[in-house]
Amino acid sequence: MTATAVPAVPTALLSVRVVERDAESRADVIPLRNGAAPAVPGRAETDAAGTDPDPIGPDPIGPDPIGPDPIGPDPIGPDAVAHLGATGKVGEVFALADGRWLLGIGDGEPVDLRGAGAALARALTARAEAVVSSATAGTDQPAVAPAVPTDLAIDVAGWPAADCCALVTGLLLGSHRFRVSLRAIPDQPTVRLLTTGTELAELTSSVATATELARATALARDLASMPSDVKTPTWLVETAAALAAEVPGLSSEIWSVERLAEQGFGGILAVGGGSARPPALLRLDWAPVGDRTDERHLVLIGKGVTFDTGGISIKPAAGMHLMRTDMSGGAAVIAAILAVARLALPMRVTALVPAAENHVSGSAYRPGDIVRHYDGTTTEVGNTDAEGRMVLADAIGYAVRELAPDLIVDVATLTGAMKVALGMRTGGMFASDDALASLVLEAGDRVGERWWRMPLLDHVAEDVRSDIADVRQTPKGPGGISAALFLRHFTKGLTWAHLDIAGPARCEKPYAEVGEGATGFAARTLVELVRVCTAR
Ligand SMILES: [Zn+2]
Repeated sequence: MTATAVPAVPTALLSVRVVERDAESRADVIPLRNGAAPAVPGRAETDAAGTDPDPIGPDPIGPDPIGPDPIGPDPIGPDAVAHLGATGKVGEVFALADGRWLLGIGDGEPVDLRGAGAALARALTARAEAVVSSATAGTDQPAVAPAVPTDLAIDVAGWPAADCCALVTGLLLGSHRFRVSLRAIPDQPTVRLLTTGTELAELTSSVATATELARATALARDLASMPSDVKTPTWLVETAAALAAEVPGLSSEIWSVERLAEQGFGGILAVGGGSARPPALLRLDWAPVGDRTDERHLVLIGKGVTFDTGGISIKPAAGMHLMRTDMSGGAAVIAAILAVARLALPMRVTALVPAAENHVSGSAYRPGDIVRHYDGTTTEVGNTDAEGRMVLADAIGYAVRELAPDLIVDVATLTGAMKVALGMRTGGMFASDDALASLVLEAGDRVGERWWRMPLLDHVAEDVRSDIADVRQTPKGPGGISAALFLRHFTKGLTWAHLDIAGPARCEKPYAEVGEGATGFAARTLVELVRVCTAR
């Protein structure tokens, strides 16, 4: 157990192991489909006599929660299910008196299994935390400690790999917690997936990949959740570089504010100029050894605004605290390239994260300023709260000039307009190229992140031109689209996609595997995008 004020990054997650099922194996989790009684292999379903149904409630703790004979007749029959009130709906979790768990899996589709896995992980956490808090409170304790499983088994023999991966995603992300507190955090449990000897090797490999994908989401959440008193631009780039140093094949480079000034990163300097914490630029490179199955070079660029007051065009007070997550795009990019390297995917990938704090002071940039970017383009500033595109423009210009990549994908919490258009669960995707757009949609679909392609409208593009500079930062017209068209100016015609995650990067009301706060959205899509590219 740990009790620290600021959690180390990454935070610990539940762990999953794949093991071969044998005669001694007992599954601790009974999946229940919508409207169906649970199927428990090898056991007759008897009546409910002798059971002590024990849903999670005010008193989930019986005198002997494991029961006298767990291998005895199966107590979970249709009557018992009815008695519990279980319907099989995704998210239903019942702790049974014999120590097992009944888990609603809906229709058993991957989307359901992600939600079910997360619900089970949260139920385990809730129980463990109840025990920890009562233990630390020093109050009268029951003579028998409640059952907090540190290890439990789910029988997945015969399940398609995609279903197992979805369950694993849910389990890991449901166990994710970011908390700055002196309250003790209980240790994370282990879940064993029981399978047959013939399926063991393949499932182990699939689950290892799913685990890396989920870890990417969780790390992106950790970075975005970190409060901005800790998370300066320097903290963000140095933390990412330290994590990269642990992964073979990844290299990192950091630009200080002095070097940014020498090399003309005017957008990053303008945005960071109002803060006492200097801006920075991070570059991470993954260069696979051996043959590449995709010869292209992909550059990922993520907005790294570590706090956004709006600058001189200051934001209203309500909701400003959420602006600590305004580097969620950068977090997704950092987490994704770490996972790409850990999975040793055979494609060259570079990540760029321009990091700055958009603050208010006498040295802050102003509406009406003209800023010169890395590639020499000048921008007429209209609103200092449109700072994301200012830092991204420098990074895109750097990528085009210095790296000449085949593909550029940028990710940013960029516009409130995209929240209005698509809500809080769907990312906006713009692409210069139909093939790249299809790949992003396919990747998102496979990992459970939803994207909707938005148009790059010609008549809006005309408004990006400025009379007194090359481009206007805040052209009139639809905000999400005009922001994308502003960025397109800097891509110089290279194949490019822009992901606006202003909506789904944050969550107010948890759903499925997504918890409250920073969601880590886009990290899995980016990793899967590379997997999809390299699998062809
Ligand atoms: Zn802003």
